[in-house]
Amino acid sequence: MAGAKAGLYLQSSVSALRGVGPALVPRLQHMDLWRVQDVLFHLPSRYQDRRHIASMATLQPGQERAILGEIVRVDHQRGGREQWLVTVSDGSGRLQIRLFHMAVALRAQWQVGRRLWCFGELRGGFHGLEMIHPEWQMADVPQFQAPRHLTPFYPSSEGITQTQWRRWIAQALTLLDQLPDYLEGRLPPQWPGLREGLRLLHESADEIPSPQHPAWQRLALEELLANHLAVRRMRQSGMTQNAPCLRSEGQLWRRFLARLPFSPTMAQERVIAEINADLARHRPMRRLLQGDVGSGKTLVAAAATLAALEAGYQVAMMAPTEILAEQLHARFQQWLEPLGLEVGYLVGSRSPRARREAAEALAGGSLRLVIGTQSLFQEGVAFACLGLVIIDEQHRFGVEQRRQLLEKGAMPHLLVMTATPIPRTLAMTVHADLEVSVIDALPPGRTPVETLVMPDSRRPELIGRMQHMLEAGRQIYWVCPLIEESEILELQAAEASVADLQAALPGVAVGLIHGRMRSAEKAEVMAAFQSGAVRILVATTVIEVGVDVPGASLMIIEHAERLGLAQLHQLRGRVGRGTQRSSCILLYHPPLSGKARERLRVMRETYDGFAIARKDLELRGPGEYLGTRQAGILQMRVANILRDEALLVMVPALADRLLQEDPEAVQAIVQRWLGNRVDYGQVG
Ligand code: ADP
Ligand code: MG
Repeated sequence: MAGAKAGLYLQSSVSALRGVGPALVPRLQHMDLWRVQDVLFHLPSRYQDRRHIASMATLQPGQERAILGEIVRVDHQRGGREQWLVTVSDGSGRLQIRLFHMAVALRAQWQVGRRLWCFGELRGGFHGLEMIHPEWQMADVPQFQAPRHLTPFYPSSEGITQTQWRRWIAQALTLLDQLPDYLEGRLPPQWPGLREGLRLLHESADEIPSPQHPAWQRLALEELLANHLAVRRMRQSGMTQNAPCLRSEGQLWRRFLARLPFSPTMAQERVIAEINADLARHRPMRRLLQGDVGSGKTLVAAAATLAALEAGYQVAMMAPTEILAEQLHARFQQWLEPLGLEVGYLVGSRSPRARREAAEALAGGSLRLVIGTQSLFQEGVAFACLGLVIIDEQHRFGVEQRRQLLEKGAMPHLLVMTATPIPRTLAMTVHADLEVSVIDALPPGRTPVETLVMPDSRRPELIGRMQHMLEAGRQIYWVCPLIEESEILELQAAEASVADLQAALPGVAVGLIHGRMRSAEKAEVMAAFQSGAVRILVATTVIEVGVDVPGASLMIIEHAERLGLAQLHQLRGRVGRGTQRSSCILLYHPPLSGKARERLRVMRETYDGFAIARKDLELRGPGEYLGTRQAGILQMRVANILRDEALLVMVPALADRLLQEDPEAVQAIVQRWLGNRVDYGQVG
């Protein structure tokens, strides 16, 4: 295992880790991993037991197993696609290993007669059971070591393998002794120390640590404490600041309503009134707008925008991704330009010149409304008179983002929109500075999305159904979720789906969108789907929350068993937006784990996003936060607000004590859990 580089510190940038090159740095930052210390706090989302060697006679497709056997045949095929087919036997049975690429230096090792240890998922192949690109070691060499502990799996992002994670984490763990434990001596004696807990979770668990395991609890407690401390400081600084009064007569809003083809629902009206009352005060609004997918939050955002514009102030609206920013921009253009209002657009992928022009217009005050991504709040963008900030569907909108916003000069009002509810205990402890408005009814005329669950062996049947939909002029989403272990397999799977669909439905335009495409390419594919030129959109994981294509009324999700409930609900929310009847088909690959079966059952029976979010929290384990990236404001790394309520009770007293006894520790804990982007020291 790689040792630490000389000069590696907990506060070093992740680029100081061996194996993290310049291309990986932004991808890690995107996952909120900025420093070596953050990697230490990147915790497993699950574990596998590879200590047990399975007898080949007992293997079944769908299982993940470790095997040990002798290589009895190596077949190197060059025609078509180069591949190696390696047969292994353990006396009880045989297994085929299929490799599509193999480093030249390793080829010599794959010889008949050698003993091989492999771990991977079993699939039913053409020649019987096979493993594709398993993890492997030659077992007849002295350095061979079968795993002695559980093997951790880390939340990942496209293109980062588990092997890479484990190498980086091993390096970070060499610095573990330097990590201060600020709660040492402040917790009951039976609690484990921070370092002990981290080491156990990363590398030495013998049994899968349940969420109640003291190691998880120790970390969850510190995370809740960090959030609570940050909010207390924020509240202190916020209370002393004044926001502009955004009082409007409602003239723009009335002109807007006169052109709108529908009227706001009662729920929308009520929420708009709550927001308008906040905006008219000097105290900066900190309001969370909760409303299920499709409940019409954008209209509420428009109402707040118009009030602020009429009062003479600027409005900035931020979406988490460029695709969403672009959609919002298009919607606002359609809505507001007829009223003579200009809608600016600022995202990272625009030309430097376009960005500079937008930034200048904002700084000069000639541009009053801008929609964009994080770029809106990066250095170099200043606002002449920012009165209102709206954040749509921010998946990790936490205290530190709020703080970052407040730094943009004068204190603006803030509206955060989310499809995820927050429980009361959480609202009181961790988000104590936010007030909540709820849209509790969907616009009229929606029909619930019919949801079917079926094994992927029934895929061919689907084609008939799809044909039918296409003939009726409908459009279709086809989602292939991320396969965390292998990007190659994932892209292959998506490309294979495109090819299958093209073969089965000749003449139908099928588009592909995946995470490795540049944003301009993604936008192009999205635009083609939106215009109807593309009829079926195959997507890896990137159908963004909030995407609105009313003509799409069938959503098919492959490997639905791999997705979290929140994500499934968000994806399903992409259909059922027009008035026609829509359906969502969840394909799974058997066998199903107990939890996966439960998730699919919930999806089939429940349409209420709040109920689903609750169930999601119940079923989720610690550390499973990035894999379910749409969990909204509940997004914590370790803590689970429902399950860890008992910990929340401890938090305020612990916070009081730390604030009195060790203000530097307060600063450090907040920075450790939340303050990765900026130095927290500047606030409060
Ligand atoms: P979300 O809350 O998920 O952001 P949107 O704001 O995108 O939902 O709204 C979903 C769809 O519902 C949009 O097509 C929008 O135009 C429509 N919509 C919003 N409010 C109403 C309403 N009061 N009556 C009818 N349709 C509405
Ligand atoms: Mg939305």
